[in-house]
Amino acid sequence: MMMQGKTGLIMGMANKFSIAYGIAESLKVNGAKMIFTAQTDYFKSKITDIAKDFGGYEVIPCDVSKDDEIEKAFDEMLNITGPLDFIVHSIAFSDRNELAGKYYNTSRSNFLNAMNISCYSFTEVARHSQKLMPNGGSLVTLTYYGAEKVVPNYNVMAMAKAALETGVIYLADDLGEVGIRVNAISAGPIKTLAASGVGEFSKILEFERHRAPLKRNVTQKDIGDACLFILSDMASGITGEIIHVDCGSNKIGVKF
Ligand code: NAP
Repeated sequence: MMMQGKTGLIMGMANKFSIAYGIAESLKVNGAKMIFTAQTDYFKSKITDIAKDFGGYEVIPCDVSKDDEIEKAFDEMLNITGPLDFIVHSIAFSDRNELAGKYYNTSRSNFLNAMNISCYSFTEVARHSQKLMPNGGSLVTLTYYGAEKVVPNYNVMAMAKAALETGVIYLADDLGEVGIRVNAISAGPIKTLAASGVGEFSKILEFERHRAPLKRNVTQKDIGDACLFILSDMASGITGEIIHVDCGSNKIGVKF
């Protein structure tokens, strides 16, 4: 029960296949209570039933592309839960038509939108987290290996993740003095709604499975348990890290 007595926020659970769902499961098993945000009222009604299993709080609408929504949602949450101990940011978006083919075909509008939702939103979450975490806490965001090396079709999302990863170290430095730790988990590929938008995703899954020292793809539980550790007091000395949870595949160059 590593998270007994701790309460946190989960942003980015679309359904039971979401990485955020796996994270919430691991946290729940270890005693945490959680409140969730959803992009719109439509999605709020879709995840309300799932959220009931994790603490019974009302789902708060929060479209992270809108300037005022994060602040408003955080104020509302403070009234409902009181101070928080952790926040999970598990959000990304790109027009799926631009997650295939050549990266140079990325449009300016999709580039800016992908950066806004997938990267800038974490900066805004981190700034407002201080209000929700007067006693310190822990933030985690989700990234992918495509930020480090070319992965076919990952395209604009790779740019957003590279910026997100750099953001993690700057935010860790900004927030260290108020006791807030900031880390990212670089997850191996998992079939989710967002991932199914990446061209030839099944080939990426197959390639990573072949390459991985553990000879398999990661599961929601693998990522959930790693996230549990990084959010818990067991990781009290860890901040500014990009932690790979991918069965070791990022360590392998060529494998015949
Ligand atoms: P997912 O289940 O589709 O989750 C993505 C979430 O982002 C959804 O809940 C979606 O909300 C939310 N979102 C998109 N635009 C938003 C906005 N404007 N405001 C608020 N929420 C918004 O997919 P996932 O794979 O679990 O993705 C979670 C994170 O893991 C992402 O950062 C992704 O890049 C990262 N990741 C995924 C993999 C993988 O292989 N699956 C690997 C490494 C990293 P709606 O449902 O309301 O649109």
